[in-house]
Amino acid sequence: MSPVFGIPTTESTLVATLLAIALVFFVADLAYVIDHYFVHHDRERYRVTHARHHRRYNGSKDAPQLDAYELSTYTSAAIVSVIATSALSLMTGNPGFVIGAALKYVHSLLFHLYQHGWWGALPLRKQGLGEPKRTWGFASAQYHAYHHSHPDAPVFTFSETWAGFDRILEIIHPWLVRFTKDGSAHVRRGGRRLA
Ligand SMILES: [Zn+2]
Ligand SMILES: [Zn+2]
Repeated sequence: MSPVFGIPTTESTLVATLLAIALVFFVADLAYVIDHYFVHHDRERYRVTHARHHRRYNGSKDAPQLDAYELSTYTSAAIVSVIATSALSLMTGNPGFVIGAALKYVHSLLFHLYQHGWWGALPLRKQGLGEPKRTWGFASAQYHAYHHSHPDAPVFTFSETWAGFDRILEIIHPWLVRFTKDGSAHVRRGGRRLA
């Protein structure tokens, strides 16, 4: 039911809340994907921060599911987005914005905990997960597990939620890469780095 004389009905309030949750989730994931792409094209930043996220899973499991780097990365991103969306929720009276930010945080943590089922005695790279398809659907846990073991694969796997972000990145990559720190691709095929 649509609002009656400007008075929101229960249904329209619920729809507005769900839309706000989806919007925040989408925007937060977009920000995450772009940052993820940029850190993969910044050798120095990659080396001191993100590389350990990849290194961990390429040996036998010998540490907690989520380490301090992962928790602090996701938590600091969540704090920023919860503060920003709280203001938005207070101004609009729509709780969906702040709920969306909180859900995105929970999703990042659960997503990693779940897909770490691939992290065990047999190193990820030796499990032969297979290169993911260039999908426009949701990023599966296996899609991201493949990212952990093959950070420089030709199929982009930076996204945690909608794989379509990776497809768009692949299309704009020749243009976008010029704005990264390294300014060139890191894609590898058969151990060789491609330009
Ligand atoms: Zn990850
Ligand atoms: Zn990565």
